[in-house]
Amino acid sequence: MLKLENVNLFYGEIQALWNLSLEVKEGQIVALLGANAAGKSSTINAISGLEKAQSGRITFFGKEIQKLDPHEIVEEGIIQVPEGRKLFNYMSIEENLELGAYSKRAKKDYKKNLRMVYDLFPILEERKKQFAGEMSGGQQQMCAIGRGLMANPKLLIIDELSLGLAPILVQKLLKALVEINKTGLTILLVEQNVQQSLAISKEAFVLENGRLALSGEASKLINEPHLKKAYLGM
Ligand code: ATP
Repeated sequence: MLKLENVNLFYGEIQALWNLSLEVKEGQIVALLGANAAGKSSTINAISGLEKAQSGRITFFGKEIQKLDPHEIVEEGIIQVPEGRKLFNYMSIEENLELGAYSKRAKKDYKKNLRMVYDLFPILEERKKQFAGEMSGGQQQMCAIGRGLMANPKLLIIDELSLGLAPILVQKLLKALVEINKTGLTILLVEQNVQQSLAISKEAFVLENGRLALSGEASKLINEPHLKKAYLGM
């Protein structure tokens, strides 16, 4: 579905991604893992068009997307839920969700998708008139994921879902992602939280210093000695 081939990305003189190649298969949950500054955000920003890769190819269903603008990539069906949620705090939950359906491809399914989001996260419907900024961190993350779903994604990229949230809430959100994935939606989960991400993913890619360090089936990677030592303290 999504393929990165030999992607190199620089910020001025600093090279953040080195010949990065990876693949996300349709229908899967795929984890992109790595410590701080490993290059996870650079990778997904290159996919979303927020940063431009200086060389390499990024294709989505066979179409080259690395030269497209972010809004064009959204129209292709790649939707990013940003790190830190980036909600509009002084707008209601429902208004935030509505903004997710701004693109042409999403507007027509607004009602259907809103129903789906409310069924997935009933608390959002109960509090739909409340300012997003008044919600708890977990509820805000639900709203951010919901806003992503309102955009009618083919591929939903979620950046640092677990950031700042209690483990029990993270569990709840990951369970919701598994439910969403069962409807056929492909998910790229970008995380520092290695163990929980691997538990729900089919495949995983581990970045270190902007390079691919490990990749493969999540159920096998979890027993990889290097991964255990570097990320799980075992
Ligand atoms: P984090 O979890 O901290 O966000 P990350 O794995 O997402 O880390 P990136 O944010 O992609 O990593 O950063 C990769 C490298 O690129 C780091 O060395 C970082 O300092 C550098 N970098 C990222 N954004 C910029 C920028 N706008 N200008 C200069 N350097 C940058």
